[in-house]
Amino acid sequence: MQRRNFLTGIASLPLALWGAHRVLAAAGKASTPADITALQNGWKTLLAANADVAPSAAPLNLSNDEWKKRLTPEAYHVLREEGTERPGSSPLDHEKRPGVFVCAGCRLPLFTSAMKFDSGTGWPSFFTTIPGAFGEKSDYALILKRTEYHCARCGGHHGHVFDDGPAPTNLRYCNNGVALRFIPKTA
Ligand SMILES: [Zn+2]
Repeated sequence: MQRRNFLTGIASLPLALWGAHRVLAAAGKASTPADITALQNGWKTLLAANADVAPSAAPLNLSNDEWKKRLTPEAYHVLREEGTERPGSSPLDHEKRPGVFVCAGCRLPLFTSAMKFDSGTGWPSFFTTIPGAFGEKSDYALILKRTEYHCARCGGHHGHVFDDGPAPTNLRYCNNGVALRFIPKTA
């Protein structure tokens, strides 16, 4: 009997560790769908006072020349040409302070620090977004279908969303750091 229990325990160990990994990935910030809704609706609690952000998602349409003047070459390549930055190249991958991530193109608020998790991919990763932040489209650039997402205000490309993120959303918004600006809650 003891041996049987021992074997059962061994068999369930990898599953238990895998489950713990998923929970840890979300850092205990959100474990139920209601928690996710609360994070989305309460995003402004992480916005610094007098932060310079876009007041709405009213469309911002600029010419390519205007975007080139406004953005660094790296940000232009990602946002306006659907480029992908080198993994591990963005300091925002390790940003852990409370605050809000806005679009580098138009300053529309996109994510909060409470929506971020460490995916280990080398790109800033989030399990949900501020409501209305993005539009999506299917992308077949790597043959396999991927879901591309872009800023609802300026149309700038930010990344791709995958379904292997932490529970309960199981989403992983894999975002180019160069397409984001971080506004800490307290400077
Ligand atoms: Zn934008």
